[in-house]
Amino acid sequence: MVRYAPSTKEAVAADPSALRIRGVVFDMDGTLATPMKEHLIKMRTDIGVPNGIRTLEYVETCLHGRAREQAEKRIVDIETEAMANMRLSPGLVELLSFLHAHSIPIAIITRNNINSVNHFINKVVAKQPQELMELFAFNPVIDRSFKPTKPHPAGILHVSRAWDIPPQQLLMVGDHLDDLLCGLRAGSVSALLRYSDNGEFEAHAHIVVDRIDELVEKLASGFDADMAISGHEHASA
Ligand SMILES: [Mg+2]
Repeated sequence: MVRYAPSTKEAVAADPSALRIRGVVFDMDGTLATPMKEHLIKMRTDIGVPNGIRTLEYVETCLHGRAREQAEKRIVDIETEAMANMRLSPGLVELLSFLHAHSIPIAIITRNNINSVNHFINKVVAKQPQELMELFAFNPVIDRSFKPTKPHPAGILHVSRAWDIPPQQLLMVGDHLDDLLCGLRAGSVSALLRYSDNGEFEAHAHIVVDRIDELVEKLASGFDADMAISGHEHASA
């Protein structure tokens, strides 16, 4: 077990060199925004993605020419449809308020397209009261044009360099195995936002929460992480 010290300003002032979370990286769909699982399932069905392969991977490696163009268009169409139902994850404002109060930077790594990210920021976030806008200063925002995508750790390593914070001091929060693997393979702490249908990924998470603001208590008090969970136990994913 590795002890992570509290991330509060007070704790940092008292013991600046302790190992602690100094930055948080979020998945978007199902993490910052409420899940849109039906759309992901619809996408797979419409495109005819076989079991055991990721949608984007299938389209990029198995489809060519016109078939690939059609599949890519279908993905964007379904994403556009999904956007209309996008909502903030319950408890997100509480978590972001804590992070902002303690000067902890935030980033997004998503496999969604940039239009969905812009929709999230400009339409969903923008509905919040004006005084909360400063809480949503995600930077960098990494969409699927950044390659390689999750579960590859490249996105987190990019954030680590951008912030000049070692990966060990970053927390990756997501609702999918690929978010956790991305975090684990970067050497970061991985947190699973658990729903009724993703509990099977718990074994690959250092932290499991059922609502995103449960992370406030972890970050405010510090926590133990079993760093034997490293992502290598799932090398084939
Ligand atoms: Mg997700």
